[in-house]
Amino acid sequence: MEMESRFRYQPVDLIVVGAGISGINCAYQLQSELPHVKFTVLEGRNSIGGTWDLFRYPGVRSDSDLRTYGFTWQPWPYSHPIAEGSLVIQYLRTCVSQHGIDWYIQFKHKVLSMKWSSKTQRWTLIVDHEGLRKEFITRFVFLGVGYYDYQIPRKTTIPGIENFKGKVLHPQFWPDKYDYTGQKIVVIGSGATAVSLVPSLAKKSSVTLVQRSPTYIRYFPTHARAALRKAAAAQLPESVSVDPHFTPRCNPWDQRLCLSPDGEFYKASNSPRTHIAVEMKDGQVIKADAIVTATGINMQMGGKIDISVDGEVKKWKGRMVWNGLMLQDIPNMMFAFGYTNGSWTLGVDSTTSILIRLWKLMENRGVAAAVPRLPEEAALETVRFWPCSPRTCRRWRRTCRNTVALGRGDRGSPLSPTTCMRDGGDITTGLEFLI
Ligand SMILES: Cc1cc2nc3c(=O)[nH]c(=O)nc-3n(C[C@H](O)[C@H](O)[C@H](O)COP(=O)(O)OP(=O)(O)OC[C@H]3O[C@@H](n4cnc5c(N)ncnc54)[C@H](O)[C@@H]3O)c2cc1C
Repeated sequence: MEMESRFRYQPVDLIVVGAGISGINCAYQLQSELPHVKFTVLEGRNSIGGTWDLFRYPGVRSDSDLRTYGFTWQPWPYSHPIAEGSLVIQYLRTCVSQHGIDWYIQFKHKVLSMKWSSKTQRWTLIVDHEGLRKEFITRFVFLGVGYYDYQIPRKTTIPGIENFKGKVLHPQFWPDKYDYTGQKIVVIGSGATAVSLVPSLAKKSSVTLVQRSPTYIRYFPTHARAALRKAAAAQLPESVSVDPHFTPRCNPWDQRLCLSPDGEFYKASNSPRTHIAVEMKDGQVIKADAIVTATGINMQMGGKIDISVDGEVKKWKGRMVWNGLMLQDIPNMMFAFGYTNGSWTLGVDSTTSILIRLWKLMENRGVAAAVPRLPEEAALETVRFWPCSPRTCRRWRRTCRNTVALGRGDRGSPLSPTTCMRDGGDITTGLEFLI
């Protein structure tokens, strides 16, 4: 049962939820493009940076070119285009303090629910602040809450793991002071996390990588499948074959490629301290002091915020996504979802630019609310979360089944705003404007 809110605040024009890349970028653009708009940023954690503050495992770093990952308004300042997580968070802190964005952020403010009233044409947000319930009123909500569950990572089923006497770690919650020097560590997984984690761990410990389905490791950015396989083969030790260990089921760039600067992953796999294994159905035994389940994140759209419109609960699932920005029948709410096969920032930058355009348009026309509507003649069709191989897709769909709307509007891509919309194209088709 929801507790009664004791703290009510002066209404604001817009609330940004989340102070990661998306929220910070939105706050910057709002203060520079719409200085008269009153807004605040509500962040559930006690720090900025989202992903880059949460993930602290050894070797955590960017996968994409930071010249495009950095904000357009604050160029990435370092010469090396790939950066460790600590450098990304340092960059974000500089951006926030240099541009006065920290002034807008209210930390430890976790949004629990948002309720739209057509009568007042306002959202009421119920927010948890260290056990207190606060109430915020606003015209518009921008969700920069990321795309995964911060509390529950993607679990893997390892029968008998409960009997394992060593440490079981997940990269999402790496313990601050864990000393793994001289330890035998098994890393389960084949994604970007495993690829960056293994070389770092191997500097001080003996590592075995256990993978069910391999990935591409990018050594030169633009190589396609064959070239990637060839490059992998050339750098692997004789004991490790490309097939099946480095032959993913999907094509390069179906997902963002795992990057291994200077081939560090391959160098580590040549080290006597690193071993690679595939699904040990054969009864193979690997001794370990610690198991790292680098099995990924749990997809979660909308930051677990309950949404209702005039008392009716609105779920994400099955709802048409209007140009990767807004949800069918939910007024004045936009969400940020960046590019997945390019730098995330480029995508969320387009999103915010469209928000600014929409805001100006609504102001000029004296409009109170914009609501995406499914045209009568349009059929709701489920589409892939993003283009990828059938197997990967099945996995994404399974992961997302209860959380993500897989709908298609009358035009546009369901999960990425078009650059045309950002650059002056039509932003009104599919929206109903309420006065
Ligand atoms: C290890 C790793 C490496 C990556 N490398 C790259 C890369 O190289 N290039 C790239 O493009 N992408 C990369 N990504 C993807 C990365 O997540 C995005 O690039 C980007 O950081 C996402 O930013 P965001 O602000 O949208 O979301 P997040 O970083 O997830 O931030 C969301 C924020 O919202 C807050 N929040 C959530 N729900 C609520 C709520 N209900 N109330 C209040 N606050 C809430 C969270 O606390 C968090 O601070 C990587 C991801 C990982 C995990």
